[in-house]
Amino acid sequence: MMTTNHELFQRAQQLMPGGVNSPVRAFKSVGGEPFFTARADGAYLWDVEGKRYIDYVGSWGPMIVGHNHPHVREAVERAVKNGLSYGTPCPAEVTMAEIITRLIPSIDMVRMVNSGTEATMSAIRLARGATGRNLIVKFEGCYHGHGDSFLVKAGSGALTFGVPTSPGVPKANADLTLTLAYNDLDAAVRLFDEHGHDIAGLIIEPVAGNMNCIPPKDGYLHGLRELCTKHGALLIFDEVMTGFRVALGGAQAHYGVTPDLTTFGKIIGGGMPVGAYGGRRDLMQQIAPAGPIYQAGTLSGNPVAMAAGLAMLELIQAPGFYDQLAARTRLLTDGLQAVADGEGVAFSTNRVGGMFGLFFTREKVESYAQATAADSAMFNRFFHGMLERGMYLAPSAFEAGFVSSAHSEQDIADTLEAARGALRAGRA
Ligand code: PLP
Repeated sequence: MMTTNHELFQRAQQLMPGGVNSPVRAFKSVGGEPFFTARADGAYLWDVEGKRYIDYVGSWGPMIVGHNHPHVREAVERAVKNGLSYGTPCPAEVTMAEIITRLIPSIDMVRMVNSGTEATMSAIRLARGATGRNLIVKFEGCYHGHGDSFLVKAGSGALTFGVPTSPGVPKANADLTLTLAYNDLDAAVRLFDEHGHDIAGLIIEPVAGNMNCIPPKDGYLHGLRELCTKHGALLIFDEVMTGFRVALGGAQAHYGVTPDLTTFGKIIGGGMPVGAYGGRRDLMQQIAPAGPIYQAGTLSGNPVAMAAGLAMLELIQAPGFYDQLAARTRLLTDGLQAVADGEGVAFSTNRVGGMFGLFFTREKVESYAQATAADSAMFNRFFHGMLERGMYLAPSAFEAGFVSSAHSEQDIADTLEAARGALRAGRA
């Protein structure tokens, strides 16, 4: 007998907290039950019941060339034949470091890790070790993984489930994290005036993607750069989501701002569990074994993961790749706006490169306060209306969406048609 999504979720809930291995997957905020994916190819997911979805989640960002791309899959197949993990250096790590440092001029040296969380945790340890200071500044609604220092007014699942500051984070730890409102430079100036001499680093998603999608205002990132330089704090761009997503050189290339340290994840692993952090040579030389700041990983630089990441990085360097991706994304967001306008629904969108945000409000959303004030009940109805029609959006009003190079114009047209139906059905 065919396994159903429902039956799998029943079993899963007995065995895993919330039935999942990462919170937002559980559909808790939108209601209902998640589907279980049996296979993925190009722009599509198929669930265990054989239903096809056009996928705008893309494994939460990595699948920028679509699922199961033959170039990536074949690179992995070749790598697997030579063994899964060595625990010694391997050539692919060197190639990976060469490519990252070539594509991202602010990075002289890099360290590979196994997730975005590891990358950000390591980057702030380096910031603290290098400056001899303890305070970290982050932004309300930004998510940097689940490290203790970051689960303070965090975005993503933490925001979705109403626990932006998690129990289990020691107060002593949370006290070392100062939070600011995103896109408010004056507030940052005031905070640095008061605490600047104790601030080790400021970490930011240069395009916020974990409270829906909110681009930085003009000059905002430059202002933060100046502030950090003035006060001797390190500017850390968390490009786990934006890296290789909004442009080949990430948000730092898109906006022309040079951070001291950068973190990566998602795309850099081609769908395998990979993260990285890197930056100026004088900083990275302080990481063990070159320097005293400790950070390590049994599986870091894993040969199979490196093969997937390298194959992905080859594909995204194709001429015109990002222009086409941005054009596809625009087709989607402009199209959705037109459909919503036609239906008389209060709606606005944001987009940068291949990432986008949808908001049920008439306002142009530039802040956390605006994002959280948009109509989330309407989003939830829209989400389910789209799901029924075979369109998979992120199951939360506080996540960015992603377009891949595999999304065709026909896929977008089908999505707009579904949106019209979902908005009509969802009008309460
Ligand atoms: N930083 C940002 C900006 C992210 O979006 C995420 C994950 O969504 C992370 C860090 C954490 O990465 P991971 O889930 O690989 O630990």
